[in-house]
Amino acid sequence: MKIFENISLAPLTTLGIGGPARWFAEAASEPEIAEASAWAQKRGVPLFVMGGGSNLVVADAGFNGLVLRIGLKGIERDGAVFRVAAGEPWEHCVQQSTEAGLAGIECLAGIPGTVGGTPVQNVGAYGQEVASVIECVRGFDRETGRFAELGNAECGFAYRRSRFNSADRGRFVVTRVDYRLTEGGKPALRYADVERELAASGFVGALPSLTEVAEAVRRIRRRKGMLLVEGDPNTRSAGSFFKNPVVSAEVFREIGARSTSAPPGFPAGGDAEKAGCVKVPAAWLIEQTGFAKGYAMGRAAISSQHTLALVNRGGATAAEVLALAERIRDAVKERFGIRLEMEPVLVGETGIRE
Ligand SMILES: Cc1cc2nc3c(=O)[nH]c(=O)nc-3n(C[C@H](O)[C@H](O)[C@H](O)COP(=O)(O)OP(=O)(O)OC[C@H]3O[C@@H](n4cnc5c(N)ncnc54)[C@H](O)[C@@H]3O)c2cc1C
Repeated sequence: MKIFENISLAPLTTLGIGGPARWFAEAASEPEIAEASAWAQKRGVPLFVMGGGSNLVVADAGFNGLVLRIGLKGIERDGAVFRVAAGEPWEHCVQQSTEAGLAGIECLAGIPGTVGGTPVQNVGAYGQEVASVIECVRGFDRETGRFAELGNAECGFAYRRSRFNSADRGRFVVTRVDYRLTEGGKPALRYADVERELAASGFVGALPSLTEVAEAVRRIRRRKGMLLVEGDPNTRSAGSFFKNPVVSAEVFREIGARSTSAPPGFPAGGDAEKAGCVKVPAAWLIEQTGFAKGYAMGRAAISSQHTLALVNRGGATAAEVLALAERIRDAVKERFGIRLEMEPVLVGETGIRE
């Protein structure tokens, strides 16, 4: 495996900003991952694993360590289980499974990035998340120096969270994910947006196929600038920049008391829901605080199609994007007492607390 020096990371990310990686390598096999990890350990340099770069904000000074891009490829089907190598684009997995009539991830169509990135933040959209279909995550455990297979219950999945982005951040390099899908399953129609889009294309009363639902989701995403489209400046982003806060019933009432209209609330899912918590759309909080779509600070801006996405208008620095994010966070905190959590992963020294 070749180790390169001073490789610019900006072109490898969807946001298109950030400095170089001091060292850079691409792993196409499991032994290469073990080799890269040993290389970094021997030299005492930090290792950062990247997939498609669609959820990253790379510091302007870059990353003073080894960036390892995961290039393992291959999709195998075993009945209703899709075993997919970590470097496969996620869209390939959605396309092949929906075409094969396997339900479970059709509403996750159009999300950029790789398969290896999906368990990390428990990717989700339009009422589905990968936690409900992941059977097993295989990865290299940098703590033990061995490959391990973690069952669903061992992954610590919650809303945009897993052990891979919390307690065990940086410990596992994911090499394969097994998704257990449902043969002949019905598509999930849990979001009004998706139902409206289907109705607009003639599906009144008829059950759409999985591929038709996936296509409907891609059309909605395209309108919101949430589908990567060559040349569309609104897609020079990292997707949603903030997580939707999950708050207690008491905090939810407090938000209502501080706003001019009733706050929308959605089921928080899992243990949080059982404890009476509610998920509040971060976009609503941001808009209530006075930020509109298209709000710009220099070369960084809120997308003109989606309040939650911060975009690089061309030539923006990480410092500019993060200054805008901090302005939004401070204003929301001031107005509602809630500190928004960032969704993208910060790489290198940005001086910002996620
Ligand atoms: C336009 C747009 C729309 C988006 N929409 C959504 C959405 O609807 N829902 C959603 O959940 N996300 C969304 N995202 C965010 C992003 O696409 C997902 O988080 C995606 O899964 C990231 O995958 P990636 O391969 O690009 O990971 P990267 O951005 O390269 O990395 C993200 C994190 O995952 C880790 N990682 C990546 N690969 C591996 C691996 N093989 N082993 C260990 N760790 C790894 C990295 O270290 C980092 O911590 C969107 C992004 C964009 C740009």
